[in-house]
Amino acid sequence: MNPLRADHVSPLAMFKIGVGPSSSHTVAPMVAALDFKMYIDTMRLLHAAPDQLRLQVELYGSLSATGKGHRTDGAICAGLAGLHPRLAKPEAIWAILPALQERPFISIAERDINFNPDKDIVWLGWSMDSKALPHPNTMRFRLWHRNNLLLEQVLMSVGGGFVEPIDPLTGLRKAACDHDSDIKLPYPYNSAQEFMRQCITNKLAAWQIVLANESTRGLSEGELRKSLAEILTTMDDAIERGLNSEGILPGGLNVQRRAKQLYKRLLSGKVPKWSGGDLWPSVYAMAVNEENAAGGTVVTAPTNGSSGIIPAVWRTLREAENLAQETLENGLIVASVIGALVKTHASISGAEVGCQGEVGTSCAMASAGAAAMLGGTPYQIEQAAEIGIEHHLGMTCDPIMGLVQVPCIERNAMGAVKALNAAALSLASDGQHLVSLDRALEVMRQTGLDMNQKYKETSTGGLALG
Ligand code: SF4
Repeated sequence: MNPLRADHVSPLAMFKIGVGPSSSHTVAPMVAALDFKMYIDTMRLLHAAPDQLRLQVELYGSLSATGKGHRTDGAICAGLAGLHPRLAKPEAIWAILPALQERPFISIAERDINFNPDKDIVWLGWSMDSKALPHPNTMRFRLWHRNNLLLEQVLMSVGGGFVEPIDPLTGLRKAACDHDSDIKLPYPYNSAQEFMRQCITNKLAAWQIVLANESTRGLSEGELRKSLAEILTTMDDAIERGLNSEGILPGGLNVQRRAKQLYKRLLSGKVPKWSGGDLWPSVYAMAVNEENAAGGTVVTAPTNGSSGIIPAVWRTLREAENLAQETLENGLIVASVIGALVKTHASISGAEVGCQGEVGTSCAMASAGAAAMLGGTPYQIEQAAEIGIEHHLGMTCDPIMGLVQVPCIERNAMGAVKALNAAALSLASDGQHLVSLDRALEVMRQTGLDMNQKYKETSTGGLALG
């Protein structure tokens, strides 16, 4: 059972601005590497001759299986060099690995420490020290002085850019980011049913519940809305860049960018009438995911692999319904609640539960957010999320060559179309339905447990086999 409660996951934790192509395999390892560097910065290493110090990073499980395609090595180098995925420009991030291959020293704590990414990033398997991994995305950072281990950190990348430490004593997962779990929230909830009950009993809109809780945790409505506005702008910028870029995506699969061409066809009306409505959200989603695949700036929603769905749905509804900025922000808040429920009761990690946890979760978040923005009741919002997830249950993760390109880019287009459909279906009903969202999430968790490892972001099964 996840020790973290859904009501303690902030919308700003669900939506993180960062660099592509993966939140679990790029953003999280980069943050972990930066953390390790900052820790070393606090150490006194003056007694050690620089040529006797060496850094080593071990990548296990899915991080090892698909890390090359997901640019994990480049992200780790950038983190060790002091760059943050939110603050650094993508060009600066991707320049560090080749620079280190030329000159294999990294400057930390005023020392030039040996670090050759080709030798010192080690790609390992499914056990660590002959024990099962604590998580399919596990990494170990080590600092050596000659043969003496000076510092070691074992961390897990649990999806969506979240990093959790391992308790060094028990070897078990620690509840990261729940440092404020003692705070008594005005509207506590840890299930979809409890969330709806809070809305109905207190006669509050879904986003008002979160605004009140976040304010109690120290984040004012003004601060939250300012950050949400930046998130919406970043999402829109990614759409624009994607709609205006062409060429081959990096990684060796020779995948051609398609969003720009499709956008041109849509603008000129050269698409069959019956397909036009679905192609607008599709082209927006593909634009973002092509940017993600190219290592550009995107927002986890809840992951990078699924980062196209929410921007596409928000842009489509904004254009069609002329939605106000505050409504768009409210929609993000509601979407984040669904993401938090999945994170705490199932998983948003492709390496843990397959693509149902990424594109499936994103579709559910987008459906719920759309229903909320269009005036849905709490029951309709919950139903929209349930439809969004229900029709992704069991979906595997099998990216070809470990790149977040095929099937990922088109999968986001499909997710965006399904999200709008799910919202429309729920808004056309009274919100009464047979399968609850809580039940669907439990099925998702169980399906993830039953899913063969080769379908969980390892590129050893399914489409990845060619
Ligand atoms: S198949 Fe889905 S979960 Fe796997 S990398 Fe692609 S988007 Fe992510």
